[in-house]
Amino acid sequence: MKRLDISLDVAQLFDAHFVGLHSGGPRSSIAGGQSAANAALADLDIAGYAKQRSQVLPIAARGATVLSPYIRHNLLTLQQVWNHVAKAPTADREKFRDELLWQEYARHLYARIGTRLFENLRFEQVWDEAGDGWPPGMACVDFAVDALSQDGWLVNQTRMWLASQWSVRNQAGWLHGQERMYRELIDGSRAANLLGWQWTVGTGTGKPYGFARWQVQKRAPVLCGGCALKRNCPIENFPDEQSLAAAAFEPLLLSDPDPQRTAGPLLVVENRAPQYVLLTIDSLGDGDPALVANPTLPVVFVFNEAALKKLQLSAKRIFFYLETVQDLAERKDVQIYLGDPHQFARENAVAVTYAPVPSFQKFTGLAQVHPYPWLKKPHGQSVRSFSAWRGKLG
Ligand SMILES: Cc1cc2nc3c(=O)[nH]c(=O)nc-3n(C[C@H](O)[C@H](O)[C@H](O)COP(=O)(O)OP(=O)(O)OC[C@H]3O[C@@H](n4cnc5c(N)ncnc54)[C@H](O)[C@@H]3O)c2cc1C
Repeated sequence: MKRLDISLDVAQLFDAHFVGLHSGGPRSSIAGGQSAANAALADLDIAGYAKQRSQVLPIAARGATVLSPYIRHNLLTLQQVWNHVAKAPTADREKFRDELLWQEYARHLYARIGTRLFENLRFEQVWDEAGDGWPPGMACVDFAVDALSQDGWLVNQTRMWLASQWSVRNQAGWLHGQERMYRELIDGSRAANLLGWQWTVGTGTGKPYGFARWQVQKRAPVLCGGCALKRNCPIENFPDEQSLAAAAFEPLLLSDPDPQRTAGPLLVVENRAPQYVLLTIDSLGDGDPALVANPTLPVVFVFNEAALKKLQLSAKRIFFYLETVQDLAERKDVQIYLGDPHQFARENAVAVTYAPVPSFQKFTGLAQVHPYPWLKKPHGQSVRSFSAWRGKLG
């Protein structure tokens, strides 16, 4: 376990300690940290959101809020963002809250079925086949791939273009496409990224999303005008309709035998007095429940060296985390390490907030566990579709 000097400049920390632990690339224009998240929320104006959410270009016409990096790491909780739009125009508020519920649905689904979400869920589709589904040449695909690599953020519309192009049109295995996207996205979460891919390529619904010139002309018309292939567009027409075979039945989609386990503790679990608050990437905000309950304890974040080596996330993501912990260090006594967070938790008395992801089970001997800040408590009924899940929310 190596302690890093948090007072160093972010770029110095990155250069000194993260060699071999990332796949390179630039720093995103989206800043990490609670201060940046608070500023984004203070600026939030969702008037026009319902109509403009899917607009890609011009950038000034976009309705998307770009809150996802902060929501993904609970720098902003879904409840906080939900409450913030209470006075927005009705159609915009309803549409926006619907999307917040999609995020919550992704979390519930992943919490319940875990790594099963990496496999074809309800229908078969090209899954593990090798291949690059985004060969260069088309202005629309190049634009989206470039934004992904440069900034690590895309509007939902272009995420769908890319996922569809990768597998539905180009027949490359979606497992690899989602991994490439996950490495780059500043908001990359297994829950939402896997859900987004499963729903776009049709494994979640049986109806793959077809990407064609039509969407580009509607959402980013300027791209077609400058495209070298404008007179020979390879996506002039929608891809042929695919009829997908049913995948192996997954009983957990229909009901959860143990919704309590899925939700994690609903009350604080107190085993012994904690000496540290340990943050995880699922909860990095000033409002982290374990941190709020233990305001005077030192706060620790451990960069998981083995996981980073394996995942090879883009440099953007590491910068985002470094910016986030440095921002927190302006208000708290923060220590950062490179090593194994689970070992840190075994060897020290830590207070931590439960995270509804499979890797949380690697924590043992925790001194204090705080409930996850759900927007809606997970139920034990169907999660086969968003509407089935939503219909059963209390
Ligand atoms: C292939 C694919 C991959 C995706 N990968 C991710 C991912 O790794 N992380 C991630 O947070 N979202 C992911 N999404 C969902 C969605 O595209 C992003 O959350 C959204 O584009 C973020 O931009 P925004 O904050 O401006 O969203 P807004 O439109 O402003 O929506 C507000 C918030 O609602 C939530 N939200 C919106 N749309 C969705 C959705 N379809 N599913 C789940 N939550 C949603 C996000 O938290 C978002 O910040 C993916 C979607 C697809 C199709």
